[in-house]
Amino acid sequence: MRVSAKPTKLSLSALSIASRLSAVIATAVLILSACAPQQPSVPLLDDLAAVDSSVPPAKYVFLFIGDGMGLAHVTAAEVFVSASSDRIGNAELSFTRFAAQGFVSTFSANSYITCSAAAGTALSTGYKTNNGMVCVGPQGQTYKSITYTLKEAGYKIGIATSVSINHATPAVFYAVEQSRENYYAIARQLAPTGFDFFAGSGILKPTGNGGNDESVFEQIERYGYAVVRTPDGLRNVSASQKLILLQEESRSQEALTPAADRTGMDGWTLVDFTKTGIDRLDGSRGFFFMVEGGRIDWAAHANDAAGVVYEVMDLADAVEVAVEFYRRHPDETLIVVTADHATGGLALGIGSLPYELKPELLNARNGAGSRTMTEAEIAALNAEAGFGWTTGAHTGEPVPVYALGIGSERFIGRMDNTDIPKRILGAMGVRGQF
Ligand SMILES: [Zn+2]
Repeated sequence: MRVSAKPTKLSLSALSIASRLSAVIATAVLILSACAPQQPSVPLLDDLAAVDSSVPPAKYVFLFIGDGMGLAHVTAAEVFVSASSDRIGNAELSFTRFAAQGFVSTFSANSYITCSAAAGTALSTGYKTNNGMVCVGPQGQTYKSITYTLKEAGYKIGIATSVSINHATPAVFYAVEQSRENYYAIARQLAPTGFDFFAGSGILKPTGNGGNDESVFEQIERYGYAVVRTPDGLRNVSASQKLILLQEESRSQEALTPAADRTGMDGWTLVDFTKTGIDRLDGSRGFFFMVEGGRIDWAAHANDAAGVVYEVMDLADAVEVAVEFYRRHPDETLIVVTADHATGGLALGIGSLPYELKPELLNARNGAGSRTMTEAEIAALNAEAGFGWTTGAHTGEPVPVYALGIGSERFIGRMDNTDIPKRILGAMGVRGQF
């Protein structure tokens, strides 16, 4: 850090007070350092967003967002993995073994309890807004996603999700819209970005609410994107073409197959999206790649503990793909894994089963048979296994953040969700909109 050495505007008396003060401080520091063991200097919170040109920047950056993934959701997956090898413990997932970890406050501009649009806006732009809004501030001002700043700086940009590509969390990384419900207006903003890679289950309301507007797919084609719905289709896409991966039209356009319900014939997975995204984005320019595990939130809204566990493990598998990339580029890669908020008020432990948890029972939710599980059966399974819920909505506690690679130390400790994009840009050595 550079210190200015220009005392010209200070009066002499101010200088002498300053020099006396600094002598007192120096003595105090000497006494303190004689008494206490030497502590490493702790950076101030603001410094963690600063560009530091003395260290190499992160060139390849992944931001994984577990939608609705609180600490209890992560822990539920860990105890489930432990239980499947018959031992009590917190087995590490791909990202929970990252050395840099912290906590992220999630409140929105108008509520202690955020929605995905407001939290996503904070994660994407560094600004708080009201629930429901996509990169639009409480007074109607518009906020810029770091994806645009990074594209202007020459990076390739990728956005992938296990739900529809115009749902709130992916939307905040490319759209500016008063309401997250304006699916058509959000989708119309996708192709003009010129971002390199998009992936999701589908596009909601592609011809508008009434079905009479120009198809978003026609617009996407005009902008030169290839829309691919099968692995075979990928073979016909040139390396330079911008790409959108979606599910086949016969499958759900709202979300990928739930991780707990896979049978092996399930269409794309988040792992497929992550692998294909890396193939498309990798190169000398560097990239920023946001990957959302969107179904964790859905399973938690349904108070389905087993569904949550399988979706968290699914996100962990996608993160593992990024970790493999990190191993090939350890000095240039940053992986950040966090959540927008927690959902459901999940608890490991319930009153009717004190001091007991049977995570191995959640295995019953897995496989084709689970497609027919009713709400009552899911509730019974929660109760039998000892997992409790307080709400069908979101909750207001901080969420965890995990980071690996170059610049990961910026994500240690307590931070706000608005700090995340600032620290990502700082780690990338890009001076952005902040
Ligand atoms: Zn939600």
